[in-house]
Amino acid sequence: MSAFNAIGQNREVDQNEFTPEIEPQATWCPGCGDFGVLKALKGAAAELGLDPEEILLVTGIGCSGKLSSYFESYGFHSIHGRSLPLARGAKLANPKLTVIAAGGDGDGYGIGGNHFMHTARENHDMTYIVFNNEIFGLTKGQTSPTSPKGHKSKTQLEGSAKDPLRPLSMSLSAGASYVARTAAVNPNQAKEIIVEAIQHDGFSHVDFLTQCPTWNKDAKQYVPYVDIQQSEEYDFDITDRREAGEAMYETESALYEGKVLTGRYYKDENRKDYQTEKLDRGSMPEQPIAEQYFDEDHEWK
Ligand code: SF4
Repeated sequence: MSAFNAIGQNREVDQNEFTPEIEPQATWCPGCGDFGVLKALKGAAAELGLDPEEILLVTGIGCSGKLSSYFESYGFHSIHGRSLPLARGAKLANPKLTVIAAGGDGDGYGIGGNHFMHTARENHDMTYIVFNNEIFGLTKGQTSPTSPKGHKSKTQLEGSAKDPLRPLSMSLSAGASYVARTAAVNPNQAKEIIVEAIQHDGFSHVDFLTQCPTWNKDAKQYVPYVDIQQSEEYDFDITDRREAGEAMYETESALYEGKVLTGRYYKDENRKDYQTEKLDRGSMPEQPIAEQYFDEDHEWK
C-alpha cells in the first residue's frame, strides 16, 4: 500500500461531475476512439468516488492532449512527450493527488519514449493512458512508433520499413508494475481497467487502442476483440513476469494480423512505488513539499 494513497473514500459520485463547464463537448472527429477514453475515465473516476479536486490529469500534445480540457479536474496540457516528468514532479510535491498522465502513441512511445521507460523503471505511483491509434493524428497522419511495417503515410510514401514498437513488452521490461491493454470498442472493460490502474500502487500503463477514422482509414477498428483473460489460448498468470512477457510478445504481433487481444497482462502488488521506497530509505521528507509551503486553502504559508 502506498504511503499516500487517498483512494477509497466511498463517496457517491455521478460521472457528470467530471464534465467541465468550459468545454463540456469534446470536438474530436466523429467516430474517433478518443471518446472511448474520456467515457471510460469519467466512469472510472466516478466509480472510485473521486472528487475532481483530488485528480491531476497531465496530457501531452496531440488529439489526445485535449483530454485534460474535456475532463473536470486539475489539468495540465503540457508539451510534446513531456507529460510524464511533469506528472512525476506533481506527484512528488503532492503525493495525495491521484495523478493520471495521458498522450498518444507518437507522444508517449516516440517523442517521450525515454520518459516512459524511466517512469516505469522507477515505478512512480500514477496511471499512464496511451491512446494508441498507430499514427500521429493531430498533425495529419504521419507514421508513428506503433504503425505497422509497410504502413503508407505522407512521411513514408513507399510504406514504413520499420517494425512497430511493442509497448507492452517495453513497459514490462522497463519495470512497470501494472500493464494492461484495452480498446475504445470495449467500454466496460476499459472502465474496469482504468479503475484497477488508478487503484494500483505504482506505475500503471494502459495501452488504449483508439481508432482514427480520419487519418488511418485502413486501420483496423479493433474488432472483434478477445479478452485475454477469457482466452483458452493464452492461459497465463498475470503475476508471473515471464508468463506475462510471453503473452505480450505473441499478442503484440498478433495485433498486426487482425487479432485484437486486450485485458490485464501484468500486476506486481509487492513492489514498492517510488515515493514509498524513498520514504523507507529516509531520502525524502515525511512532509510533502505541497504541505510545507501551502495551507489547506492552497495559500502560501
Ligand atoms: Fe481522432 Fe484522428 Fe480526428 Fe484526431 S484526427 S480527433 S485521432 S479521428
